Amino acid sequence: MLRISRKLLIYLSSGAAHKPIRRSAMEDGAQPVFTFGIIADIQYADIEDGLNFLKTRKRFYRNGVQLLRNATRRWEEQRVRCVLQLGDIIDGFNKSRDASQQALDTVIREFEKSSADVHHVWGNHEFYNFCRETLLASPLNSAARAGSGSDLIADDIYAYEFSPAPGFRFVLLDSYDVSLIGREENSEKYKRSVKLLQEHNNNPDLNHPPVVYGLEQRFVKFNGGFSREQLLWFDEVLTLADQKQERVTVFSHLPVHPNATDPICLAWNYEAVLSMLCSHKSVVCFMAGHDHDGGYHIDESGVHHITLEGVIETCPDSNAFGTVYVYEDQMVLKGNGRISDKVLKYPSGKHL
Ligand code: ZN
Repeated sequence: MLRISRKLLIYLSSGAAHKPIRRSAMEDGAQPVFTFGIIADIQYADIEDGLNFLKTRKRFYRNGVQLLRNATRRWEEQRVRCVLQLGDIIDGFNKSRDASQQALDTVIREFEKSSADVHHVWGNHEFYNFCRETLLASPLNSAARAGSGSDLIADDIYAYEFSPAPGFRFVLLDSYDVSLIGREENSEKYKRSVKLLQEHNNNPDLNHPPVVYGLEQRFVKFNGGFSREQLLWFDEVLTLADQKQERVTVFSHLPVHPNATDPICLAWNYEAVLSMLCSHKSVVCFMAGHDHDGGYHIDESGVHHITLEGVIETCPDSNAFGTVYVYEDQMVLKGNGRISDKVLKYPSGKHL
């Protein structure tokens, strides 16, 4: 007598037998469509080790270059298509030592050993060292390397997008578009930022968070936000990606989900970005730096929010970088050192 298992019965009666079964790419041992490297908060300076602001964590200023060298070697072996550097590439201490350019040259030399294109996001420490005009003319302006159509959205907003492979899109956001740092004191955006901060924070030193708990703590000088102009552009990019049925990953120095970071590291108007990520079916992942402890959360629409652990607070015998293997149905993050592995399935309800 033919014995049919319950599982097989359900399978046959569901009509699934008539459809091709889509197994996970990883289960099949399939090759990824492409791979890319990620790293954040190197904060290199040629100075002795120190402590963070709260004096709770050690900072290895000089050793970041060695950790980057180890990462670059691994990425070369893995033949990654591109690398995303998520900001704070050198530390603000370089400025007072008149060593900003030298420090930047040192780190860029390590990145240049990689044959992959490196895409740089800008964080607060970029602006502690350089003004926007200098950054735009520096190797940290990677928009030009991203290919045609990847121009900056405006002269004063460092945000661009490109397609790393057919069917996929990367968007780099400028989370210091509206901020006190990196803006001229007589500029409209600076004035608007001061007004916004002072509505939420009455400390004489605006780098100190307001004396309240919770999300209000994000209103500090070392954070920033996104202008209406940038958000409109972002919405257009995502609308087009929806139409093309692309998978979009977004990169920013500041995190935008409260469950993926300490609130003191959140972007000021994080809600505006979050609602946009939720409302576009193309978005699958948001990656950020800034919070050296890292974080992870999958939001209600299925978007993965990854905050990368910072190189600066990583022991010399460990590391903090990752390689992302991109498949048709998911991405797989293989972490090194402090960064753990993660399977990032694409949101099932968002993509048709
Ligand atoms: Zn930062």
